[in-house]
Amino acid sequence: MQKRPLLGLTLSELQNVVKNLGMPGFSAKQIASWLYDKKVTSIDEMSNLSLKHRGLLKEICEVGAEAPVDAMRSLDGTVKYLYRAGEGHFVEAVYIPDGDRATLCVSSQVGCKMKCKFCMTGKQGFTANLTSNQIINQINSLPERDKLTNVVMMGMGEPLDNLDEVLKALEIMTSSYGYAWSPKRVTLSSVGLKKGLQRFIEESDCHLAISLHSPIPLQRRELMPAEKAFPITEIVELLRNYDFSKQRRLSFEYIVFKGVNDSLPYAKELLKLLRGLDCRINLIRFHAIPGVNLEGADMETMTAFRDYLTSHGLFTTIRSSRGEDIFAACGMLSTAKQEENKEELI
Ligand code: SF4
Repeated sequence: MQKRPLLGLTLSELQNVVKNLGMPGFSAKQIASWLYDKKVTSIDEMSNLSLKHRGLLKEICEVGAEAPVDAMRSLDGTVKYLYRAGEGHFVEAVYIPDGDRATLCVSSQVGCKMKCKFCMTGKQGFTANLTSNQIINQINSLPERDKLTNVVMMGMGEPLDNLDEVLKALEIMTSSYGYAWSPKRVTLSSVGLKKGLQRFIEESDCHLAISLHSPIPLQRRELMPAEKAFPITEIVELLRNYDFSKQRRLSFEYIVFKGVNDSLPYAKELLKLLRGLDCRINLIRFHAIPGVNLEGADMETMTAFRDYLTSHGLFTTIRSSRGEDIFAACGMLSTAKQEENKEELI
C-alpha cells in the first residue's frame, strides 16, 4: 500500500489524520512542528508522540521528503535542481542567491497546458498537477533551505491551473504552524486564468505577478494562447477591483523580445493599459530556447524602455539575468532528463 506523505498536509488535514487514528487532537500541531519547523525526515524522529502513536502513523503515512535527483550549478551561484515527480517525470526548482536575498523559483505542474510560444515547459505539454507535497518538497529538501528569503511560484506550470494544491502549499508557507513566512516573501506568477485569479486574490495575501509580455491583444495571443480565454484587458479590469496600494504587491512580467515588443509604441500601450493601477513592471531578458524564432532585446533597448515607463510614472525594473550558462529558462533541464529517461526505456 502506498503511504500518504505527511509533508504538504495543512493543519486541518493533519487533524483529520490524527482523528482517524484515534490520536489526541493536539498531536496534529506536534506533527506540523516536526515537519515544518524541525524538518524531520522520518516519523521515528517525532519523539513527543508515543511509540504506539508513531507506530500507528507509520502504518499508513510517511514523511514524504525526497532529495533532488540532479543539480546544475551556474558560475553566478544559481543552482537548478531536478526533483522526481512520479514515474519518469521531473520538475525543476531554481535557487537564486543574490546578496542578502536567496530566492527559490518553484514549479506547480509537470509540463503546462498554456503553450506560451517562448517557453520550453509549454512545449512539453501537460502531464500532471503537482501535489502540495511535491510543491513543498522543493523547498523542504533544498540543500540551501535555511538560506531562503523568498519563494516565487514561477517555475514549470501555471499555478492557477492547480490552485487547490497551490493554495495548500501557500498556506503552509505562510501559517504559524508551517514556515510562518510573511506573505510578502512569496509571489505567485500567472498568465491570468479567469477561473483561478479572483479566488487566489481573495484567499491568499501573497504577491501577484501577471505575465503580460505584450499590451496588444493580437500579439499577446500569438505569444500566449491563454489571452484568447481571458484577455489582458479583462484581467486588468478585474485587478482594478482590488487594493494593491498597501502590503500586497502587484507586478507585471514583460519579456522583452528584439524587434517584437521592445519599441516606443509598446511602452505607450503599456502605460495606457495600466493607467491608474498600483503596480510595477519587471522587464525580463529572454533566454533563447531551441526551435523558437525569438531573440532577446539588447540591454540598451531595455534600459530605454524602462526609462520611458519610469519617467511616465510606471515603476519599472530590469530583472538581472541569472544562470544563463545552465539554461535557467524553465523546462530545459527536465525536458532533457525526460528525453534521457525515454531513451533508457527504449
Ligand atoms: S511560461 Fe509559464 S504558463 Fe506559459 S507555458 Fe511556460 S510554464 Fe506554462
